[in-house]
Amino acid sequence: MTDRSTQMALIGAGPVGLGMAKALLEHKIPYEELEADDDLGGNWYHGVYETVHIISSRKTTEYADYPMPEHYPDFPSRQQMLEYLRDYAEKFGLPKHIQFNTKVVMALPLADGKWELELATGEKRIYKGLIVCNGHHWHKRFPNYPGKFEGQWIHSKDYRSPAQLAGKRVLVIGGGAQRLLVSAEDVFRDSFGGDDETVVPGVGAAADDRVAGAHYGGEIQPVRLSRAGPQNF
Ligand SMILES: Cc1cc2nc3c(=O)[nH]c(=O)nc-3n(C[C@H](O)[C@H](O)[C@H](O)COP(=O)(O)OP(=O)(O)OC[C@H]3O[C@@H](n4cnc5c(N)ncnc54)[C@H](O)[C@@H]3O)c2cc1C
Repeated sequence: MTDRSTQMALIGAGPVGLGMAKALLEHKIPYEELEADDDLGGNWYHGVYETVHIISSRKTTEYADYPMPEHYPDFPSRQQMLEYLRDYAEKFGLPKHIQFNTKVVMALPLADGKWELELATGEKRIYKGLIVCNGHHWHKRFPNYPGKFEGQWIHSKDYRSPAQLAGKRVLVIGGGAQRLLVSAEDVFRDSFGGDDETVVPGVGAAADDRVAGAHYGGEIQPVRLSRAGPQNF
């Protein structure tokens, strides 16, 4: 057991963890940032497909104290997001406090207010406090339908580029905001050779009415896709 009880543990070096790290540094609160992956950026490093752009716009997504570059478009790409996050981290001296390839597998509150953390390596550490910025997109949820589907079945989290599904007939299940919709547009544009408009059977957001962007009350909906993007969302 390593005693680090003069420091806070901060889990995650995605956008939220980086913002939190900057605040801790500013307030001179000692901490260690523990990141499971081998680089910073969270979802923008490892979790989104190659062609994605943000849908929340530059001005509403940037850190209030670190504007995105003026030459960025209103809806920056994944690569631009990642570069921005890296710049942010460098600017405020955050990387040297990040321990990469350090996955936390257990966090236990102790009676004296401290926290015991266990890492994937088996190492155990005691920290003064714990701040969790671990995101949630890594947690894939698959619907459980009766019957058997023999084809390939992937979660949108594992979608990387249109080439992955080129030439295949694809059924899209779920209606959660941009991530699914933009990937669907890319996929179908590629799959159907650039048709101006293709009607594809899809299923509304039956699994979860809290998913951002749409609530279909569990009904099956036709999803109309065109070059202009999905039409009934
Ligand atoms: C396709 C897509 C499009 C999106 N578009 C937008 C958008 O337009 N605008 C917007 O605001 N948001 C968008 N998001 C959401 C965006 O990803 C989040 O806003 C942002 O990444 C959340 O940051 P975070 O730091 O909370 O989590 P993450 O980015 O997920 O970072 C969490 C970090 O914690 C690490 N971690 C997790 N568990 C552990 C552990 N046990 N031990 C150590 N480290 C751990 C992970 O490796 C990761 O680096 C989109 C998401 C997707 C998938």
